[in-house]
Amino acid sequence: MNCISCKKPNEKNLIVITKFWIVTLSRNQAYLGRGYITSKRHCNNLSELKPDEWSELHDLIKKLEYTLEKAFNATMFNWTCLMNVAYQESPPNPHVHWHFRPRYDHTVEIAGKQFNDPEFGHHYSRKREQSITPTVREIIIHKIKQHL
Ligand SMILES: [Zn+2]
Repeated sequence: MNCISCKKPNEKNLIVITKFWIVTLSRNQAYLGRGYITSKRHCNNLSELKPDEWSELHDLIKKLEYTLEKAFNATMFNWTCLMNVAYQESPPNPHVHWHFRPRYDHTVEIAGKQFNDPEFGHHYSRKREQSITPTVREIIIHKIKQHL
């Protein structure tokens, strides 16, 4: 079955590839540093993850929270594993991935562009979008990689 998450990630958005996971930056930077951690193998749900995969995921979460605090002074993080879109297809074919959204109680400026979190302290907005130029994307990825 065709699975978009099994395809090679777009190099432009790639942050890091580990033994079991692929970390990429989202095109929508409404939450500065927003990205995905995607399982390298096609795995339908969290209960199918193996202990080694959980262990590495734990390490990755620790590293990402650390580097996003260092890079942008992120205040806290929203981690979600949703996979709802896969169930819009019949039959569904979900592929385990996590969304991470750093949250901010302050404005961050990168190359003259301002990033705000007007919903801070509340559920993230699914509708707010912020696109970025290739230059700003490179700066964001560079800053995230500095402490990974
Ligand atoms: Zn897949």
